[in-house]
Amino acid sequence: MTHSTYPHLFAPLDLGFTTLKNRVLMGSMHTGLEEAKGGFERLASFYAERARGGCGLIVTGGIAPNRAGRLSPFASKLTNESEAKEHALITQAVHEHEGKIVLQILHAGRYAYHPFGVAPSRIKSPISPFKPWPLTTCGVKRTISHFARCARLAKQAGYDGVEVMGSEGYLITQFLSAKTNKRRDDFGGDYRNRMRFPIEIVKAIRAEVGEDFIIIFRLSLLDCVPFGSSWEEITELALALQEAGVTLLNTGIGWHEARVPTIATMVPRGAFTSVTKKLKQVVKVPVITSNRINAPDQVESLLADETADMVSMARPFLADPDFITKAKSDESERINTCIACNQACLDEIFQGRQATCLVNPQAGYETQKPLIPVKESKDIAIVGAGPAGMSAALYSAKRGHHVTLYESANEIGGQFNLAKQIPGKEEFYETLRYFANELNAAGVKIKLGHRAVVNELLDYDHIVVATGITPRQPAIPGIDLPHVHSYLEVLQGKVAVGKQVVIIGAGGIGFDVATYLCEQSNQSIEEFTTKWGVDLSMQTRGGITGETTFAVPSHEITLCQRKAGKLGKNLGKTTGWIHRAELKHYGVKQVNNIQYDKIDEQGVHVTRDGKAMFIPAESIIICAGQQSLTELVRPLENAGKSVHIIGGAKLAAELDAKRAIAEGLDCALAL
Ligand code: FAD
Ligand code: NAP
Ligand code: SF4
Repeated sequence: MTHSTYPHLFAPLDLGFTTLKNRVLMGSMHTGLEEAKGGFERLASFYAERARGGCGLIVTGGIAPNRAGRLSPFASKLTNESEAKEHALITQAVHEHEGKIVLQILHAGRYAYHPFGVAPSRIKSPISPFKPWPLTTCGVKRTISHFARCARLAKQAGYDGVEVMGSEGYLITQFLSAKTNKRRDDFGGDYRNRMRFPIEIVKAIRAEVGEDFIIIFRLSLLDCVPFGSSWEEITELALALQEAGVTLLNTGIGWHEARVPTIATMVPRGAFTSVTKKLKQVVKVPVITSNRINAPDQVESLLADETADMVSMARPFLADPDFITKAKSDESERINTCIACNQACLDEIFQGRQATCLVNPQAGYETQKPLIPVKESKDIAIVGAGPAGMSAALYSAKRGHHVTLYESANEIGGQFNLAKQIPGKEEFYETLRYFANELNAAGVKIKLGHRAVVNELLDYDHIVVATGITPRQPAIPGIDLPHVHSYLEVLQGKVAVGKQVVIIGAGGIGFDVATYLCEQSNQSIEEFTTKWGVDLSMQTRGGITGETTFAVPSHEITLCQRKAGKLGKNLGKTTGWIHRAELKHYGVKQVNNIQYDKIDEQGVHVTRDGKAMFIPAESIIICAGQQSLTELVRPLENAGKSVHIIGGAKLAAELDAKRAIAEGLDCALAL
């Protein structure tokens, strides 16, 4: 039966030998469980949860077809039958929930983070310290056979198909580009020869697995590097892949070494989908679009306007395994939306840790952190409805406790109400919407505009103090002058900011305040592509013009820190470079290694390298970190109450929403 709200999303996709129940693909994500002890059991639960949630087709994290192709020395590979047996745990669990799953085959090529990496030519990538070994012609042919072996083993393990990773700058794309492929044999030279490698891989896989097995090829449609493919080359390859036997063509955007944001939160939703639409007009096989898609309405309209036959979302399934179920039952407003922050997923993976999700700390911990109903309901007061308090309240109520949430402001959300105002962080509105709906559905009593005091908390069985932080006021002479403001005053729009601005403190909030002063919220796709020099019409090689065009901001900003070293060093592993590049393009001056001597009416006096320096400023904004707000703790403990402290109230240093929300869950599990 046709779904009334999302008819295209819930239309089955007939692939001839099999049918997918809807048009949503869960894109490939490495979780870190692939290499963990007992990881396959946990991965089986992780994927089973997403299959139970109704996803049409799941793609696993990338698995190497041989040792050389591994991303890191101990990364997962599928090269023999005993490894295939471990994968069977995953496929069985998914099939038990009537899901379908394909294994992604990923050969890292010169992106390998170990000394045994191979590539078409001996050319080091800018993002790996290791120079790859060039493959001999025999080595190329052996690698092709390893892709085929991997696909055969995947079939044996019960997978419904494979996805060949042919984008993001990994081995296959390295063969395609003349800059990384200097070979003189049949696999190098002109484009016909350079594309021989992926075509031979697909042919070899098809020959090995037969006709009734899904082969997705993730094709790079926009390399975002100047030495990437031209549109003519991409279409030539797409048609040849179709001929070679692929079932579906997925969209890849950007080599990892590209200096264009492709999935981070400042990328407008669906920014790159138009290139998939361009491809759809060329090929007959179904195409899948991707990147910054995170809402069912958006999926529906991409399918309705024939941008693609399927839509891939990866991180949104970390954020909410029940995305599809909620859309199906017309409860989209209850979806826990991925805010594309990368903080708990990619940033963790890139530091060799396990992926989870900032807005869903149960992701990847399905077996360790289940919400077991309580035997005895307790009365619980939670003070503070910031991320920590909202999370503790929601999970406690879901376990069966009676929860009252106190918030002194007139809205829930705490500092998220400031974060949402930063251009490029508009997705925080979604988290606030999610918590508002879920707290209501879970029966949490919310007392807004109510500053909780000790006496009213004494009758509760447990009190959770989630009162957050207060901004630090550094002891700089002149800090009380009227043109010195806290970031709170600026972001709440309480003060006018002059043309010349000094920001004291260059942590996450210092960078955000500078962005707030330079940029408009809700940038369109066109504004984004103009800024970063992306050519969606694909008239230029790699879809990149080589010219960035950032508007001249209306403020002249100097961002300062006392530490030596680069500003913004501790920003997100995968997003810090974007914040630093943006401020550089906006002409924000960045000064490190200073001591603040005093502030006067004209500006800030500092000492740098033993020399006095003066930075003129009409406005000075203090972003010098925070201190915990804990005034309730001591009196409650003195009264013998059971007190739990979480989030900023527990520790202001190195606080972020990932920690705050995770501590809310852990606290709820302990109550
Ligand atoms: P808070 O968010 O401070 O919430 C505490 C709440 O308690 C407040 O709502 C306060 O009103 C209430 N309260 C205090 N005392 C009482 C009382 N006695 N009675 C009732 N209520 C009380 N983090 C990230 O991870 N990623 C980001 O991209 C990011 N961007 C940010 C951008 C900005 C501009 C700002 C300001 C912060 C950003 N953060 C970000 C930080 C993140 O918002 C905080 O780490 C998080 O909000 C801390 O959560 P919390 O619940 O501990 O505290
Ligand atoms: P922060 O990251 O700790 O940065 C505080 C800044 O103030 C630093 O530059 C520090 O550098 C400076 N500072 C500290 N004490 C000072 C003093 N006494 N006098 C002058 N300067 C001082 O804190 P934040 O920027 O307030 O951010 C708070 C939290 O929110 C962070 O931990 C962050 O994780 C989170 N957040 C995250 C993001 C994100 O994008 N992930 C964005 C915003 C906020 P020096 O000591 O070198 O001067
Ligand atoms: Fe999305 Fe952030 Fe969660 Fe990653 S951590 S899945 S980007 S919300």
